[in-house]
Amino acid sequence: MTNAEIASLFDHVADLLEYQGGNVFRIRAYRNAARLVKGTVESLATIREAAGRSLTDLEGIGKDLAIKIEALLDGGRLPLLEQLEQEVPQVAFELMRVPGLGPKKVKILVDSLGLTSLDDLGDACRAGRVRDLKGFGEKTEAMILANLAFAQDPAHSRLLWQEADVIVQQLLAWMRDCPAAERVEAAGSWRRGRETVGDIDILAQSKKPNEVMDHLLAWNAAGETLLRGETKTSIRGPQQIQIDLRVVTAASFGAAWQYFTGSKEHNVRVRSRAREQGLTINEYGVTRIDDQAAKPLAGRTEEEVYQSIGLLWIPPELREGRGEIERAEAGSLPQLVTLADIRGDLHMHTTATDGEATLTEMAQAAIERGLSYIAITDHSKRVTMAHGLDEKRLRRQWRSIDRLNESLAAEGKSPLVVLKGIEVDMLEKGGLDLPEDVLAEADWVVASLHYGQKQARDRITGRILEAIHHPAVSCIGHPTGRLINRRPAYDVDMQQVIDAAAATGTCLEINANPWRLDLDDTLAAAARQAGVQMVISTDAHSTEGLDVMRCGVLQARRAGLEPKDVANTRTLASLRKLLRKKERS
Ligand SMILES: [Zn+2]
Ligand SMILES: [Zn+2]
Repeated sequence: MTNAEIASLFDHVADLLEYQGGNVFRIRAYRNAARLVKGTVESLATIREAAGRSLTDLEGIGKDLAIKIEALLDGGRLPLLEQLEQEVPQVAFELMRVPGLGPKKVKILVDSLGLTSLDDLGDACRAGRVRDLKGFGEKTEAMILANLAFAQDPAHSRLLWQEADVIVQQLLAWMRDCPAAERVEAAGSWRRGRETVGDIDILAQSKKPNEVMDHLLAWNAAGETLLRGETKTSIRGPQQIQIDLRVVTAASFGAAWQYFTGSKEHNVRVRSRAREQGLTINEYGVTRIDDQAAKPLAGRTEEEVYQSIGLLWIPPELREGRGEIERAEAGSLPQLVTLADIRGDLHMHTTATDGEATLTEMAQAAIERGLSYIAITDHSKRVTMAHGLDEKRLRRQWRSIDRLNESLAAEGKSPLVVLKGIEVDMLEKGGLDLPEDVLAEADWVVASLHYGQKQARDRITGRILEAIHHPAVSCIGHPTGRLINRRPAYDVDMQQVIDAAAATGTCLEINANPWRLDLDDTLAAAARQAGVQMVISTDAHSTEGLDVMRCGVLQARRAGLEPKDVANTRTLASLRKLLRKKERS
């Protein structure tokens, strides 16, 4: 069982307890457990099995929780969950999947309207029966109706890239252990770095396909076998994801890897280009249309497949049929940004608000990750849930940062500089959550919208534009507010936002949190076109949270971003120059 699966079980228990009106402390304990597990990057199974280590070594995991996790890892279930699943009606589970419908609201809907399905809920909304319930109203009814469509779209049940990646890494490690496999690679949307992954494609090179396919079936996480063929086997893996394994020969490996990496749009264009040149391309290789019986012209590597139709090798993240073939032909493919180009991280939280690690711990973790600067950007006071900072507490934190920088410089060992920042809220009524003179003293200001997300398009757009034009604002955080699979973006005119960011020299964030990835690939590409400087930030709430940077980089690569498009690939001196330009504009 993966960490994500365990976390979602704990969340599920908390939801069901809340539905029943259970004890708040108990609910909170399960929510905290889910958050902890989700925030742990290393697999809990690995930690448990490692000699001399134990789950209780992890901060926040006590004995009781460790026992529950071990039971889950052993294939057991949570007795409490089984009991709750008996007690709560099935329709409640379906309703809780609708974004914006928490357990409490679902309870009211089920009890008052006698719903038995999601369709019933849609009917009730359309008949205007939901608006009269206590705590609902016309707006909520319209929101439910809009989100219902979102919940019923099968595209929203795909795994996040990061969740799929955990499975892919375990699977690759297992398959590479197979003596009959000469080479094993993953393909498909995982390889293209899509934000969500629907199924996992694995490719093996071998002369003994049966042995390789048997090895897959012997994997301890293998579920039901869906198909067993001559060279292809499909199974269900963790979280019910479908895994397709194909076994090919060395002569076809490159052709098959190209073929099964996709996308469909990209491959359609590749094949039609080949046809124009009298060639045919499939998963076995490239042959001449008029002599398909002859030995393939290419197929061992992806490079030779692309070369055979006059193209440079195209990075998988760009293979979406968005003009990459024309660029490969012209020799003008972008030099995509890599994780190694990233020098700083400009959005993170500490224990001063809702983070789990202290200022010093975050700085230490940044040093360990080789960063040369970070900005501490805790929440401002409007975010009461997170105990947001007022002017006084913020200045106190800044004094601690000054002292920390002095001691880091005195040690002389690390080049890390900690910038004084804030994630300041764009208030519902307009304006920012801290006075201008305070913001002017910050090194780095991220302005974010957390409240009033249901406002009309012109109001939300207006709030963001106001922040962009504020001289102290360096960057707009998670600009669209979407949460993948959970909540659509707020209604905002992104073209206006992008144009204003370009005109004022304000950065736009690519928030690297795997649930956010906001800006997404298409918006980031549009921002690049407009000349906006982007910042890839982790928005870390723990030291491990800094590791999601790679998810943001992947999204930036899909957008075609080069190091020069990403402000935090700059040296600190160069970043400061960029910020001064904004102040003067
Ligand atoms: Zn935020
Ligand atoms: Zn944040």
